[in-house]
Formats: sequence, C-alpha cells, structure tokens
Amino acid sequence: MTEFHYATDADGVATITWDAPGRSMNVMSMTGFDELSAHIETALADEAVKGVVITSAKKDFAGGMDLNVLARLKDEAGDAPAQGLFDGIMKMHRILRRIERAGMDERNKGGKPVAAALPGTALGIGLEIPLACHRIFAADNASARIGLPEIKVGLFPGAGGTTRLARKLGAMGASPFLLEGKLSDPRQAKSAGLIDEVVDDPLAAARAWVLQAGDADIVKPWDQKGFRFPGGAPYHPSGFMTFTGASAMVNGRTQGVYPAAKALLSAVYEGALVDFDTALRIEARRFANILMNPSSTAMIRTLFINKEALEKGANRPEAPDQRVKKLGVLGAGMMGAGIAHVSARAGIEVVLIDADHAAAERGKAHAEAELDKAVSRKKTTAQEKDAVLARITATDDYAALEGSDLVIEAVFEDPRVKAEVTASAEAVVGADCIMATNTSTLPITELAGNSARPEQYIGIHFFSPVEKMMLLEIIRGEQTGDRAVAKALDFARQIGKTPIVVNDARFFYANRCIIPYINEGVRMLREGVTPALIENAARLAGMPLGPLQLTDEISIELGVHIARATRAAMSADYRDDDADEVLFWMADEGRMGRKAGAGFYVYDDKGKRAGLWGGLSARYPEAAEQPELREVQHRLLLAQVLEAVRALEDGVLMDVREGDVAAILGWGFAPWSGGPFSWIDMTGADRVVALCDDLARRHGGRFAAPDRLRDMARTGARFYPEDAARSDAA
Ligand code: NAD
Repeated sequence: MTEFHYATDADGVATITWDAPGRSMNVMSMTGFDELSAHIETALADEAVKGVVITSAKKDFAGGMDLNVLARLKDEAGDAPAQGLFDGIMKMHRILRRIERAGMDERNKGGKPVAAALPGTALGIGLEIPLACHRIFAADNASARIGLPEIKVGLFPGAGGTTRLARKLGAMGASPFLLEGKLSDPRQAKSAGLIDEVVDDPLAAARAWVLQAGDADIVKPWDQKGFRFPGGAPYHPSGFMTFTGASAMVNGRTQGVYPAAKALLSAVYEGALVDFDTALRIEARRFANILMNPSSTAMIRTLFINKEALEKGANRPEAPDQRVKKLGVLGAGMMGAGIAHVSARAGIEVVLIDADHAAAERGKAHAEAELDKAVSRKKTTAQEKDAVLARITATDDYAALEGSDLVIEAVFEDPRVKAEVTASAEAVVGADCIMATNTSTLPITELAGNSARPEQYIGIHFFSPVEKMMLLEIIRGEQTGDRAVAKALDFARQIGKTPIVVNDARFFYANRCIIPYINEGVRMLREGVTPALIENAARLAGMPLGPLQLTDEISIELGVHIARATRAAMSADYRDDDADEVLFWMADEGRMGRKAGAGFYVYDDKGKRAGLWGGLSARYPEAAEQPELREVQHRLLLAQVLEAVRALEDGVLMDVREGDVAAILGWGFAPWSGGPFSWIDMTGADRVVALCDDLARRHGGRFAAPDRLRDMARTGARFYPEDAARSDAA
C-alpha cells in the first residue's frame, strides 16, 4: 500500500490517511482507488472498528483526479473505449457508494459512521470522496479551496459529485458549484452546505463524531423513504421552472459550444427523475460520453496537462535556481503598479520607481486598493495586507534598486524613455541582474541595444489587468541568454502565472493573432455584413467577445495608434488599409470605445453597453444579401488560426502547446477547441486547407493556407498525437 495508509486505535476508530508518495498534493490514481477500497473493506469487516475517518497527511486533502488516468482507461479498452470508460467510472461509483452505505442493511441499520477530515484544499475527486462520507469536517483555513472545478477543463464531476451535490443542495443551489466550478474557502463552503463543520482540529472532531454517531446520523436523505429532490424534481411545478431556467442560462452562457455543461445539466435532470443508484449510472454514461468528446479531450490537454507542464518549466533552459528575491519595477503606471502588487503578494521585495515620488506612491496606492478589496472579500487578512505593502518601496531614487536581481521596465511605450531608465537602473544594479521590458510593441532585440548586457535582457510581457490575466509572454531577443529565460520562468512560477517563451517578432505571439481577428470583424462591417451577425457569430463560435466589442474594450485610440505605427514600419507590405479606414473614421467621429462612452456600441450613463451604434449602417449600409453564419465564423476563427500557424512557421512560436495555452489564456480563443492548433487537429488539416482555398479565392490572400498546413493535409499529420494521455507536441 503506497497512497493510503490504514491505522486503528484503542477506541475503535480506523483512520485512512491519504499520502501520495513524492507529491506535495494528493492526486487520485487508479491504484489510489483500489487502496481506498481495500481499506474500507478492512474497516467494515473488522468488528473492533466502530467508525472510520478519511484524512490526509499533507497540508491539503487533495487537488483532484490525475486526468491522465481517464485517458488511460480509454486507451486500454481497445476497440471499446466508451465501454472501458463507463466500466472504470462505475467502479469508482461502487467504491464511493460502499463508503456511503458503510455496511447498512436495507432498513438503514448496522452501518459504520465514516467522516472526512479535510486539513486544507479539497478539489474535484478530493471533494467527491468527502461527499460520499457521512459528515465533512474542514480546518478553519482561509487559504483552502473547496469545490468541483471540472467544468473549467471541459468535464463535469463524474465520480458522484454531480448526483450527490444536486440532491444535497437542489439544482439551483448546486449550480454555481457544478456549472461554474465555483471554489469556496471552508467557511463559505459550510454556509453553502457543501461541508458540515469548520473546526480548528478536523481530525479530532471527526474522530469524536464517529464515536458518537448513531444509525440515524449516517443515512443520506436520498437513501431514506420519501426523499424529495430539494427545490423540486423536474415533474414538480417549481422544479420545472428551475430546470427550464437552468437550461436557458447554460445555453446563454456557453452559446451551446461546451458539451460538458449540457451533459452535466442532462445528468442532473435525468438523475432527478430516478432513484439514486440509477442516477449514478446516468451520470456515468454522460461522463463517459463527455470523455469521448474531442472538445473535452482538447480542453483537458491544453488547460490541464499542458498548462501545468508549462507552469512547471517544460521549456526552461538548464540553469541554477533563478527565483527572484528583490525586484525593481520602472514605471508605476497601470502595468508597473500591477506587477509590483502581484510580486509583493508572492513574497518578493519590490522597489517601484517613477519619475517623481508622488507618481511612485500612486502606483503603490493601487496595490493598497487591491489589497483592501481582498480583505473586504476575506481573500486575505489585514496583517497580510500590511506585510505585502511593507514589501513595496515606492520611490524616484534609482539607488534603491541596489541588490535587485530582476528589473522590469514598464514606462511609456517610447524607445528613448526606455533607453534612459534602463541606463539609470543598470548603473546601480549588480552585474548579475536581469533586465526585462514589458513593452507590447517594440522589438526586444532593438531595446536590448540600450542595455550594457544584451544577453541579460529579455521581454516579460504581462497582459492587462495584471492581477487577472494569467498569461506571461516571455520574449527572447536575438542575444538573450538562457539564464535570462530561466529567470523569467522562475519569476512566472513565483507569481503563479502561466508562461510561454517566444522569439522576437512584431507583436510577439498573442497580439499578433488578435489583431487579424479584430481587423476581419471590422472588414466585414465595411463590406456590409450586419454588425450583429459579426458579433453573434463570434460568440457562437466560442469567442468571449465579438471583434467590435473587443475593439471598444481595447479602445479605438489604441487601435489607431497601433495601425499607424505598424503601417509606418511595414510600408509597402502593409495590408490592413481597408480595416483602418473604419477605425480612423470612428476616431474622427470621436467614438473611441467603452472608456469614452461611445464606440461600435452605445453606452448608458453607467457605462453599460446598450446595443450597437445605429450610425454604423448609415456609413456602411447593410448588404441585401448576408453571408451564412458559418462563413462569418470561419473568417473570424481562421484569421487567428492562420496567424498562429504562421507564427509557428516563422519560428516565433516554438511549441504548439504554448500556442494553444497562450491563445486561451491570453485572448480567450474559443476555449472549447483547446486552442488554434487543437482546432486544426479537430477540424482536420485537409478540411482547413479546403476552407482556406475557398476563402482566399473570395476574400484575398490573407486566407492562403500556409505550407505547413498543406503538408499536413497531404500526409494526414496532426499537431498532437491522437490520444489525450500523451501531451507531447508532434
Ligand atoms: P502608463 O502610462 O499607465 O504608465 C507608464 C508609467 O511610466 C507612468 O506612471 C509614467 O509616469 C512612468 N514614466 C514615464 N517616464 C518615466 C521615466 N523617465 N522614469 C520613470 N517613470 C517614468 O502605461 P502602461 O499602460 O502601464 O504601459 C507601460 C508599458 O507596458 C508600455 O511599454 C506598454 O506598451 C506596456 N504594456 C501595456 C499594456 C496595457 O494594456 N496598458 C499591456 C502590456 C504591456
């Protein structure tokens, strides 16, 4: 036995302790399930055992299921993968159901109490096991996270969590946890009814409880006669209202492109019509079906397996530990203030510099305001806030940078200002210090020319807002050395961001792909495509914002600025004049986007969007014949996908895993697809090339299929191997 340990004491309490070897967090494997099952059987068979406590030897209970296990179940089932999955899932159900029934007879007598004692975080299967127990005790640990996040990687809770939570809280009560994957701290989890008690010592409390629990304490409501589904089952008038509303809500939120959300709702709906054991079988069928769905496979691969691999340094060059101890941030504006804040929160000492002291203090005040919000939402404590703020020194004195091992420059997007502050910083810091720039448009190789040590100069591109956006784009200039890359990657890990490493080129990777999306939307508007069709087509393809709304969010002013700069730099090669015409006209009309209160959309007094601006059709009359929805979607998606492939061909992108992860985290590329490269695999390279040929013929060379895609279409190659278990890029 390696993952779960078993011990009994003189009082008759059996303790089953989860302690996966060699891991800081417990993650469930198939062996783990077998061991848990064997220990439960031992406890139930031993007459000296009065009750059981399931706990963890680590600071947390568990982080979830090892998703590679699910992929393996499928692979090992040979010609019948769906059957293999179903059988594997039913095995999990049987084990958890055995815990829940705990030896009770049909009259609900004679069972042994089983309690869960959670020292910290309990996610996914780490909550599904406790939900099968009779009482859940959690430590009073504000940083612990409790919930079922499966929906976020294209799955739903498939080890009984869906069926148990829906029966415990009702469809409405369970929906934030099942449909949105909402995570709670222990106190919130208790008030929502996810767990039973928050105590200082959950193990002691659980032991005391199992010793005094009687028959009536351990029978689940759904195993009692006359059980009624909370809030009403679908055939009940109030239940009918809930389910009709939920169905509409899910479709509204997901635009119907996330199969897991639909399957989850179906499992709850159909499960509510039958007895508990049949409901578990329905859940298992729906879950197996989702695991067979290519969208779920792609989402798990990108958002779970590959994202984690990148965070753990999959592409980190060999170099000693480069964790940052003292960080200098130059420029305390929107980005610099955010960078200082997230770094100080990660325990790093920060010197935040601006042209004058007051500006630097304003940057620090941003951190204070964010921390105040976190305290009021109980996400942190007042002491922690003080400790974080004490780590930030706001100043205009470069001497304070002495001893910094990383400096990130985030001043105005002006090469001269950047050169000046880089020189001032380098005059103070030691020879080992790595210099980074947060520029979004200027070439790293050119900016490195301002540095005395270009091999120690690198791009670390944050996205706005810094606190929320999880992607960090790390850019190698021509001379950037491996230690600088390792430094940037170790820093990303410290502050909990997901990094990708790309080579230097105009707009790097993320912005390079998002600009063609915006331009394609704007182009269609100019051609007379109804603006609502453009926006809805994008949303129905799974993009979080339509191209026109996105332009309003980014601001038309910035769009115009970027267009002018790019046109100047590319001269005769520039191809976006048609789209620019629309942007320049909007700017002339004073419609600069959401912040200005007017853009492609109209905004009310409170800044809320109030529909598309009617003036668009006066300038760009809607064509009598409108394109098919599919055509609009293909244009919008291919504009991004083809740019991603070109970035790979150009060597800007070096790993398709990074291309997919960054696309979803950086600009929200249709997450259901797993990213642009997964989208191509799912669609089939031959079909993508056919689409390109057709669009190129009718709309121009920007849709011409890159050679790499043509080769793949010819040879039937893919970017990823066919199964999800192996995540290496081809
Ligand atoms: P900002 O205008 O909010 O902040 C720039 C700060 O630099 C200001 O506080 C200014 O006082 C300070 N500054 C200017 N000259 C200085 C000098 N000589 N010495 C010290 N401080 C000086 O700009 P921002 O949006 O934070 O952008 C900063 C950088 O980050 C730019 O390079 C930009 O391209 C990049 N960036 C911006 C975004 C974004 O969404 N805003 C996203 C990614 C990257």
